[in-house]
Amino acid sequence: MTTTGDPQVYAVDVRGVHKSFGALDVLAGIDLQVRKGEVTVILGPSGSGKSTLLRTLNHLEKVDRGTIRIDGELIGYRRRGNKLHELRPREVLRQRSRIGFVFQNFNLFPHLTALENVVEAPLSAQKRERSAVEAEARELLRRVGVGDKIHDYPKQLSGGQQQRVAIARALALRPAVILFDEPTSALDPELVGEVLEVIRDLARDGTTLVIVTHEIGFAREVADTVVFMDGGVIVEQGPPADVLDRPTHDRTRAFLSRVL
Ligand code: ADP
Ligand code: MG
Repeated sequence: MTTTGDPQVYAVDVRGVHKSFGALDVLAGIDLQVRKGEVTVILGPSGSGKSTLLRTLNHLEKVDRGTIRIDGELIGYRRRGNKLHELRPREVLRQRSRIGFVFQNFNLFPHLTALENVVEAPLSAQKRERSAVEAEARELLRRVGVGDKIHDYPKQLSGGQQQRVAIARALALRPAVILFDEPTSALDPELVGEVLEVIRDLARDGTTLVIVTHEIGFAREVADTVVFMDGGVIVEQGPPADVLDRPTHDRTRAFLSRVL
């Protein structure tokens, strides 16, 4: 790990992040750098702070301490002298519009078709031009394999199809990074593969991805870096061959022996 925060190199740069809920230190000093074009997979037991970490990256949760930069830009705050001032909601929305987020439960707008779901943020948050956005959305929906479903509503789609629409929606932002929070955990087992296949393609194409998942085999295959979290800290991180096959910490070994 390096100590410079060069935005040319890092899509995500997290420094000394703390977050508590009441007396609970959910994030107890997180440092994490993700290079552009790389895939980081976050593993860890339930309650270890994985979702909270992802949510701080796009300011869905405010940090108590520390800084987050996405593509070099400080998230949620503006620095004046030594002080950080919180950004206005409109500025936060603008920042968020460059960070894709794919949730466990798809979170598509139920009253919008697949196509409308994908074009919504590029039109409203990014103020892009409708005909170009629609053409790009159709292409993205084809790319994730639902090109024949663009006028269907979420409830007409399988879970795997809904999640692939959600990935197209994230891609339509032209994001600096896409965050995935257990993207296959809510799927019937036979639908997991089709969603992992789409994520695998993104990884191959050099999209910057941060993925929370319990799919260890998938992590081994796509991750440049595996991060193991427990109790609000990063216990260890490194290439999959190190963290998954030669973990140096007892807590990592105990976790892997439970999930493998
Ligand atoms: P993970 O995704 O690793 O399972 P989370 O980040 O969801 O973990 O949660 C970490 C801890 O923080 C858990 O103990 C959870 O109950 C707690 N927590 C998360 N969000 C909140 C919240 N909004 N208010 C209070 N406690 C929370
Ligand atoms: Mg979680």
